Amino acid sequence: MIERTMKRISAEQKAPWAGFVILIVLYFAANIATTRVVRMQGQINFGDLHMAYAQFAGVLSALANICIILLVVYYKRLGFIAALVLLLGQFPMLIVNLILRHNVNSIPGVFTNVFTLIAIATLRINEGMTERFRKRMAEQAITDTLTSLPNRFACSELIADLIKHNTRFTLVSIDINNFKNINDTMGFDVGNKLLVEIASRWKAIADSGDTGTLDIVSRLSGDEFAIVIRDYSSTADIVRTIEKYESVLGEKLSADGYELYITASFGYAEYPTDADNLDSLFTYSDAAMSEVKRVNSSNHILRFNPELVRTERTLEIEHKIRKALESDTIFFNLQPQYDLAHKLRGFEALARMKDEEGNIVSPGEFIPVAEKVGLVDRVDGAVFRKASEFFGGLLRDYGLDITLSVNVSVRHLMKKDFLDEIHRILETSGISPSNLEIEITESIMIDSVDKAVQVIKDIEALGVKIAIDDFGTGYSSLSYLNKFPADLLKIDKSFIDKMNSSDSSKQYVASIIAIGHIMGFKVISEGVEEDKQIDTLREIGCDYVQGFIWGRPLSVEKVLELVRGLAEQ
Ligand code: C2E
Ligand code: MG
Ligand code: MG
Repeated sequence: MIERTMKRISAEQKAPWAGFVILIVLYFAANIATTRVVRMQGQINFGDLHMAYAQFAGVLSALANICIILLVVYYKRLGFIAALVLLLGQFPMLIVNLILRHNVNSIPGVFTNVFTLIAIATLRINEGMTERFRKRMAEQAITDTLTSLPNRFACSELIADLIKHNTRFTLVSIDINNFKNINDTMGFDVGNKLLVEIASRWKAIADSGDTGTLDIVSRLSGDEFAIVIRDYSSTADIVRTIEKYESVLGEKLSADGYELYITASFGYAEYPTDADNLDSLFTYSDAAMSEVKRVNSSNHILRFNPELVRTERTLEIEHKIRKALESDTIFFNLQPQYDLAHKLRGFEALARMKDEEGNIVSPGEFIPVAEKVGLVDRVDGAVFRKASEFFGGLLRDYGLDITLSVNVSVRHLMKKDFLDEIHRILETSGISPSNLEIEITESIMIDSVDKAVQVIKDIEALGVKIAIDDFGTGYSSLSYLNKFPADLLKIDKSFIDKMNSSDSSKQYVASIIAIGHIMGFKVISEGVEEDKQIDTLREIGCDYVQGFIWGRPLSVEKVLELVRGLAEQ
């Protein structure tokens, strides 16, 4: 694999075989023509200029020599051997002519051949030096000069190649513990000798095949190494292999009279299970390795898990949410909901956020973070306030009787002034309570059913509707559904997706709808994308649909367009 990389780096254009053959044919043709021309009587006339045929012999012989030189230039070693054979092959003939036949005409030929031989030998020696130099450069490009291990570039090339061929492998990131201390207190020389010793121990393991897996060790930079492990059958195999590399560090290392005991941190990530591209693999195995360092436990080997990178991403998103709240730039889209006769029921308000660079951050990502860091009530609040204000105007301007649904998180719902907030919003927006709906996800009930039920009852008492969002994904216990004074059941998209794949999935959705109806709820299906789903939902008696098929989440401008269109009908 590494050899392939090297070949690629040092790759030169190979001259085509046809050229080789042509040069040899041309060489013979020029030689034969030379001997013929020498013997030819007569002359060529160019106007006043008269030239004997024999005078062209020099031109033809030069042509033959050019063929020889081109062979050496373009076909390297092979060309040189061919040229030698061709030139030396002529000597017996020239010598016979000269000595036995006393043909002095052969003397220039002998000299020409000798000079050409000297020329091609010089060319070849030069070329050989350049080739060796090029090879050394290519080797250096992929080899770490200190340890002679493959370097970061070679390691990346190897990984890219494995990914291209979809081969399962594990990338292990290794960092020597406290290496900076060693460098600082004992000097770079000792540090370097240590790295060389570690590298040679690891290379010996990789080459011995004792690990039972196929490993390549590289040095990435400083005290960072990496191992690419292939040909294993389980995670236990990976760990066993890494332990072998770890165990040789346990043996005493000596450098410049110092005796040192070294440890290292090993983090690994597997392709394609943990990551499917080069960058993520490096990031993830590094994250695992950093975690080993951070925790500083006696176990020095850790596999990547998503929690490791989430912390950093969470911080980044939290920062974005805070910024958006500060500048009041959280906004909303409205996704239409329809009955099965395609009549508009209303809209669901969905939170939207852009970061400082103007990139949209998906609510699937920022809502969970907002929940985790305690900002979700402020996000909900902003969407609630802005969406109701817009919606109130819409109802007034177009005399509509449709519903606005807003998502409210548990945290928000449980705030003691939540009812006051609803009061305030109803008042300022002018929306009548029956045109407002609060969506609560099913999982809320898991935490604090009784308290939640009380708040929900209070909301209902105001005349505001309640929807149970993402139904089916949480604690789908009928007993609590019974306790729950809701108006609408929202069947989660995952059930709608599966609905047409088997009869039992369809029956499942049909029973949710039936039970919902028995309990006095209306039922809406989320995430409807296909005509076939609409047909099935009609057949099994669903009340409403919300999905890309009839409407994506829309900006306020698009909502106005839609509503104007309806008013004109
Ligand atoms: P949700 O409340 O279940 O909202 C429906 C989600 O499904 C929306 O995703 C919507 O864009 C998406 N969706 C609707 N129809 C289709 C479809 O046909 N195909 C597909 N693939 N997707 C469809 P969105 O806007 O990304 O929101 C994700 C979730 O974030 C929401 O799920 C809700 O749980 C939460 N969320 C959104 N806005 C707010 C908010 O203001 N407050 C709170 N607490 N949560 C919110
Ligand atoms: Mg919702
Ligand atoms: Mg939902």
